[in-house]
Formats: sequence, C-alpha cells, structure tokens
Amino acid sequence: MIECTIIGSGPAGYTAAIYAARANMKPTLIQGMQPGGQLTTTNDVENYPGYPTGITGPKMMEDFLKQAERFGTNVIFGTVTKVELSKKEGESHKIIVDNKNEIITKTVIISTGASAKYLGLPSESKFMGSGVSACAVCDGFFFKNQDVVVVGGGDSAAEEATYLSNLCNKVYLLVRKKEMRASKIMQKRVFETKNIEVLFNHETVEILGDNSVSGVKVKNNLSLDEKIIEATGFFLAIGHNPNTEIFKNQLDMDETGYLITKPDSTLTNLPGVFASGDAQDSVYRQAITAAGTGCMAALDAERYLANNS
Ligand code: NDP
Repeated sequence: MIECTIIGSGPAGYTAAIYAARANMKPTLIQGMQPGGQLTTTNDVENYPGYPTGITGPKMMEDFLKQAERFGTNVIFGTVTKVELSKKEGESHKIIVDNKNEIITKTVIISTGASAKYLGLPSESKFMGSGVSACAVCDGFFFKNQDVVVVGGGDSAAEEATYLSNLCNKVYLLVRKKEMRASKIMQKRVFETKNIEVLFNHETVEILGDNSVSGVKVKNNLSLDEKIIEATGFFLAIGHNPNTEIFKNQLDMDETGYLITKPDSTLTNLPGVFASGDAQDSVYRQAITAAGTGCMAALDAERYLANNS
C-alpha cells in the first residue's frame, strides 16, 4: 500500500513530494491535466526567492519536478477522475486515475490548484504569456510605465487595477455592468486613483497585436459603440475556479468550492486527507505560499502516519 499520494503538480504538490520523499514516505504524485500547474502559463517568475535573476515558469516547474524525483517520488502522468475517501482514522483511501487505475493509499495530499477564468477569446490564448495574464502580482512588473487593461468588477479586479496603477502609466478597468461588485472600500480606492479609468458597461471584443499585445478592441454594451484602447497588457480578473469538483460531497468546501482546512494546518474534515495550495486558498494564491502549504501538508501527513502505523 502507498503511504502518501499527492494529487497535483504545482508548487504545492511538488513541495509536498520533496518533503514526503525525504521523510521516506515514498510518495506517488499524480500530475493532472496540466503538469506544472498554472505557472506553466507564466513567462518570467521574479518574485520566487532563490532565483535572483528570475526564471521562466515552465523551467521553475521542471526544477521542482527534478527535485521531487531526486528523492524518489514516483511521478505519474495522469488525471484523478474519482476518489473514495475514508471517514475512519487509520483506514485507507482509494484514488482512481484516468478512470481505470486504482491507487490505495494511507494519506492523500490534495494540491489540485485553481484555474483562472478566461473570456474564451481566441486572441486571449494567442497572447497568453506575451501580454495576456491572469495575475498582476506575477506579471505586472513587465508592464512598467505602460498602458494596460484589466477586466472584471470584483475585489480581484479592484485589487489588480490598484496594484497595476502603481507600476503602469495608465490602467483601463473594463466592467461589464453599470456598477462594480467589489467592496465599497476597494471601489473607493479605484475611483480615487488618478491613473485608473473605469469603463462601465464595456466588454472585450478582441485583443489586438502581432507578436504581442498592442491594443484591445472594446464595446459599450448599451450603445454598441466599439473603440480601440492602446495597451500592451491585458489582465483578467474575473475570478478563479478551485479544481475540487472530484471531492464534492466528501470534503468540506466553501460555497465557491475552496477546500476548508482546520486553522493553522492542512487538515481537512477527513482523517489522513490534507489540502494545500490554491485549492484551499482564495486569498494569497502565490507560488511561494502554495509551496509553504505543500510543505505543511507533508509534515501533517508524516505525523498522521506516525500516529496510525
Ligand atoms: P468575483 O466572482 O467576486 O468577481 C468576478 C468579476 O468578474 C465580477 O465583477 C464579474 O462581473 C466579472 N466577470 C465574470 N465573468 C466575466 C466576463 N466573462 N466578462 C467580464 N466580466 C466578467 O471574483 P473575484 O476574483 O473578484 O473575487 C473572488 C472572491 O475573493 C470574492 O469573495 C472576493 O471578495 C474575494 N477577494 C477578496 C480580496 C480582498 O479582500 N483583498 C481580493 C480578491 C478577492 P459581474 O459583476 O457582472 O458578474
């Protein structure tokens, strides 16, 4: 029987694997549909300590993988399609990979992450990593002193627009309704920032450019007038979906699907099941915080195994 199975291959999953492998738990890690996770769609990572000259997201995740394998993690390319989690302390859990392969495991570490929501425009995928981003904190720096567009009307959009206003020359905030959904205080901050222009009732028609973004065609959804905003960056802030669908009705989650962990730990409501990274974090969502909780999950699993051997 496997001692520890890790689901997901972002910074949380690989960090959990490094710690679990070094603790001799011989972990198996199932990579999921997007090996390396969200960072594989980011160009340069400059805010992860230890890389003084920065690193690309894909290269960083390659290093995480190598480090996890170096200590003996069994990395499987596949997607978990079903889980049968036990409710009883000390009992094993069943994980089904790609609808066919069964894994029986004493502990499970969930690091399935979250996926940013996108508009679904072809131009959006074309410019992913070269002007289109869903993380201002990760990529905003590359648009220093330039004009950018942010889409969304919630707290994330307000926060990202405010963050970018400190770096960029001008921030256009596209809100599809006649009002923002963000909290009053965040809205106030947006309205009081001189270089943020809020365009209510505006939607994105297309992102323009050759090799990188040079502008955004937008439409007023009341007058149907279209215009082009010159901008080099296009930031999505229309929400995230935690990848937790397969745990529904088994694990406690909030109304938006984020897994609930016990305070100051990675413990879920079921014994031997731990949650780390963005699947349980709607607030910080950074590679470094995900890695931190991945480490916590491995330590929590190790303690659980010691108490249930
Ligand atoms: P939300 O779901 O709250 O808001 C999403 C926003 O994006 C809405 O304004 C929505 O518009 C808009 N939107 C959705 N789809 C589209 C689309 N296809 N085209 C254009 N606009 C679209 O997500 P957030 O990420 O902002 O927030 C998630 C949670 O996290 C919230 O509970 C929030 O309070 C919290 N949060 C808190 C922060 C803080 O306190 N510092 C910071 C960030 C998030 P519409 O309103 O028309 O539906």
